[in-house]
Amino acid sequence: MRGREVTVNYASLLLATAISGICLAATMMGFWFTAKRDSFKLTWSLGVLTLVAHVLAYTIYAENPHPVIGAFVVALLPLGLSIIHGAAHQFVQQNPSLNRVAVTSLISLGLALPPLALGYDGIAFIVQNLAAAILLSMSGHVYFSHRREAPTALMLMAGLYHLAALSFAACGLVLIVGQQWTLGGVPENWAERVNIVVAILAMTGGGALSIALDQTRLAQLHKAEAITDALTGLLNRRGLAQMTAGQTYGPFAAVAIFDLDHFKSVNDTHGHAAGDAVLCDFARILDQGKRGRDIAARLGGEEFALVMPRVTDDQAAATVRRICAMLAAETFEAKGRAFRCTASAGIVFGDAARPGVDALIARADEALYAAKNSGRNRIEIARIAG
Ligand code: GH3
Ligand code: MG
Ligand code: MG
Repeated sequence: MRGREVTVNYASLLLATAISGICLAATMMGFWFTAKRDSFKLTWSLGVLTLVAHVLAYTIYAENPHPVIGAFVVALLPLGLSIIHGAAHQFVQQNPSLNRVAVTSLISLGLALPPLALGYDGIAFIVQNLAAAILLSMSGHVYFSHRREAPTALMLMAGLYHLAALSFAACGLVLIVGQQWTLGGVPENWAERVNIVVAILAMTGGGALSIALDQTRLAQLHKAEAITDALTGLLNRRGLAQMTAGQTYGPFAAVAIFDLDHFKSVNDTHGHAAGDAVLCDFARILDQGKRGRDIAARLGGEEFALVMPRVTDDQAAATVRRICAMLAAETFEAKGRAFRCTASAGIVFGDAARPGVDALIARADEALYAAKNSGRNRIEIARIAG
């Protein structure tokens, strides 16, 4: 049996670029459509589809070098890359940068169209390639300057964009060196063949990396949500356990547990929404009243914890008193009626046995119970052993 002859020519590479571009754009749009959270995916897809349109116009121009088709060729490349540049900005700062897209496209178009109209299609291709190189390296720079979020993936992304920029610059320079001001068709040289391979690599690699980065972001968001109290934004019990895992607390450490007084009657008298507002306000007071290394958390309901890893006994007691006093000084309002709220607290200090946070919380809870029994709106101090 005779094997079928397989040839990979320039036209098949162009076709491969167009097909992979359409598939990538469809995948990204699918991601965007299922969770319309990150519009950068939509912007990126639109940019890639514009590049696919450029590749198709280029293929037609290769057969029929009519100036009108040429205008589409030189317009669509910088337009697509400007949109992709806008997507890069959106990815790092949620900013659509529509002005940026419009300005960069118009500048490159304004430079490429006049020579094309005057019959200098070579100059138009030079401008188009140099504009592409600038836009790609600008996008690469956006990812590079944001590399802290995910260093490996973002540096790879920046590398791909710069590689693509280099190959477009090479296409422009080869035409300049050859002084090919008029072509009467599409440019044909080694740089063009390298460029098409690099373009496929950058598009597919960039797409895959964008999806991977997006998944990393999503995982980080879920992780943060799992340890955050949705109402107050403080750490929740799981978050506190995570932050204090493996830590032990010696003599210069303290834990305080706060519980709002008669909170049930706040809800009953003023409504649940008013109760929520008090909880949020106390969370703010706790967050502002704590010192640098202290950890504040909502343990559940109207119970909060403050872990103070480096503090003297006096400082800890003063901090807790200040926080309770700040709450007591607040006036709340619901349904036209003003009301106040107080808190009780139990404090316990670490000691030479260096207990873990759970033992301190349990002991602070006992002190809190004593504070409640002694009339509320007060603080009780306990020692871990005794
Ligand atoms: P004590 O002074 O002894 O602490 O009395 P208390 O009424 O504060 O204590 P109790 O444990 O009886 O009531 C706690 C109340 O906290 C009951 C519950 O409805 C309310 N609560 C718990 N979580 C929330 C919340 O997220 N929002 C609101 N508004 N209320 C909450
Ligand atoms: Mg209470
Ligand atoms: Mg309670």
